[in-house]
Amino acid sequence: MLMKDRLIKRIEDQAKIFKSRAVKGLEDGKRHDLVQRDERKSMWTAHNRLGWSFPKIGSAFDRDWRTAKKVVESHNAKLDQRRRRNLIKVLRDEAYSKCGKDDHSWFDDSRFEGIAYRCERSYEVGYFGNVETRGFVKTCLFCGYSQSGIVI
Ligand SMILES: [Zn+2]
Repeated sequence: MLMKDRLIKRIEDQAKIFKSRAVKGLEDGKRHDLVQRDERKSMWTAHNRLGWSFPKIGSAFDRDWRTAKKVVESHNAKLDQRRRRNLIKVLRDEAYSKCGKDDHSWFDDSRFEGIAYRCERSYEVGYFGNVETRGFVKTCLFCGYSQSGIVI
């Protein structure tokens, strides 16, 4: 069996299990039980790895297609958030390690702003309302070292 076929089989088997715990409304005959964690993951896999449309997922899992859409989208948002948090952690660790070696060359990389250094910008407005100088002070969030300069 191809890997994709195996995955389809797995999703279909899981869908059967999920449907077996369905709580249906007496009035509308629709599922009224909440989508649990394992079902969420299974829907996400069906959409992202098998390319199933929301209506197809809906019918396989006996859910409204809008429920499937909502579940997949919120799972995507969660993954994005996790990816962002991981990236922040990697950047922070990198800056922290360099700070320990007295290296603050990463002040020039704006990806570190707000994560490992704080930047305060200042402006001086001239007599005619024109901005004459723009300065900045960057401060390391770990050791407090600061660097100031003029924005060109
Ligand atoms: Zn530092």
